[in-house]
Amino acid sequence: MESIENCIFPIEDTLEMILMFDGNGKISYANAAAMKELEYEGDLCGHHIHDVFPNSFSLDQDGFKTDVSFGGELINLVAYRKNQTCFPVEAKMLDNSNSFGQYICLANDILEKEFLCKEIEQVKQEAQQAMKVKSEFVANVTHELRTPVNGILGNVRDLLGSKLDSKVERYLRLIERCCGDMNKIINNILDFSKLEAGKFTLEPRKFQFRNMLDYVKSNHINKITEKGLGFFMTVSPQIPEYVIGDELRIVQVLGNLISNATKFTSVGKISVEAVRTARVNDKIELFFMVKDTGIGIDGADKDKLFQSFSQVDASISRKYGGTGLGLNICKQLVELMGGRIEVESEKNKGSTFSFSIWVGLSEEEAQLPAQEFVEMPMMGTSSEEEDVEDIRQYGTPENKKSLKNNLSKLILCVEMENWEKAEMFMETVRTLTVGAPREVGRVVLRLKMAIQKENYDKVINEFTELNQFLEA
Ligand code: ADP
Repeated sequence: MESIENCIFPIEDTLEMILMFDGNGKISYANAAAMKELEYEGDLCGHHIHDVFPNSFSLDQDGFKTDVSFGGELINLVAYRKNQTCFPVEAKMLDNSNSFGQYICLANDILEKEFLCKEIEQVKQEAQQAMKVKSEFVANVTHELRTPVNGILGNVRDLLGSKLDSKVERYLRLIERCCGDMNKIINNILDFSKLEAGKFTLEPRKFQFRNMLDYVKSNHINKITEKGLGFFMTVSPQIPEYVIGDELRIVQVLGNLISNATKFTSVGKISVEAVRTARVNDKIELFFMVKDTGIGIDGADKDKLFQSFSQVDASISRKYGGTGLGLNICKQLVELMGGRIEVESEKNKGSTFSFSIWVGLSEEEAQLPAQEFVEMPMMGTSSEEEDVEDIRQYGTPENKKSLKNNLSKLILCVEMENWEKAEMFMETVRTLTVGAPREVGRVVLRLKMAIQKENYDKVINEFTELNQFLEA
């Protein structure tokens, strides 16, 4: 028979106490941890298992007697040291008498474990407290910074109201811009600490959706056109005039994405789209996309983007500046509004940031019957946008799957400048309606054929028929 001691050599140094005893209860092996915990200093072998667990094992002429199970489950025992003091252990007993002629006991000091757990808990609490103090400090300092920055800004604006020579005016404009930038950073840090501390609350109110988008556009259009970039905004007519939500925070998320798009794009265009994707009772889901033709983001860096203080790499922060807080704040705000934010991007080609949020319907809107369909985004092009080849893909694969499953009505409003574009557009519609109900498919096919024949009257007829079908 192979000696068990040869097999257990690697366990000599484990923190767990290991004892082996034979059928007579005589201990034949004790590892270093057992020797230390039980304070036997090397002479534990030869003792009886009853010496270590007197409450659970008794001496017997034929060996030992015990009620303890040898099935390997965890049991609580009391272990006695050589000096007869004791401590609780969590132990496992194994019966290896058939193969090795030995029984094995593996035991851990529970007091030590509990002590360690308490110590870990204490360290955790101290770390949380330190984080809280740090966050409060950052929040206080940032708050205090606001006063002097606004003081400078106020004075600069007063001076700008007076007659100045052009050089002084240029300097003052620069100071004004710097103060504006500083205010943005201060506000970001304040928002971030509030969100982290769980003290952030949304303030939903009824507001005019399209006015909000106009405001966002007016905030950015100068910078975008200064850089020579194109700007396009498309809003689905399915979005009602009034919605109920935290307008300020929606502006903040959109503003941040458009600022980033502007910052990281030197040629091309930025487009913003807003569509309504679902309705449940008096709430609707809005889906936004901010697309640019800028530097793009490497696939490997995408996961880092929404973490706090994260920028893609140091060279980007040196060149473009920023705190790396913007997208993290956007993510937290979007999640507070019941949605999620995502990015699709290709290095050197551009990025598309998209997010969804839920907003309330105004009382009048909510009374209109809820349509049981997921609405298709408007496929008509913005009159300024030329990129017809670009078939828009809305949202995540789940989003697309849900669109496909739930689509029962398709509302189209199309204006095209030439037949070629109309045909390409119809092809896109046809692809997107592959999974739609047969009636929709039939009308779409007829519309497609009519467009291909360049028959204006027929197209109008088919279109009227499609409208009638949808109104029925
Ligand atoms: P910052 O204030 O530094 O811009 P953000 O959280 O808004 O912080 O963005 C984090 C990083 O994500 C940016 O530094 C940049 O590396 C990357 N990023 C964000 N938006 C874009 C974009 N539209 N195109 C390319 N990179 C982007």
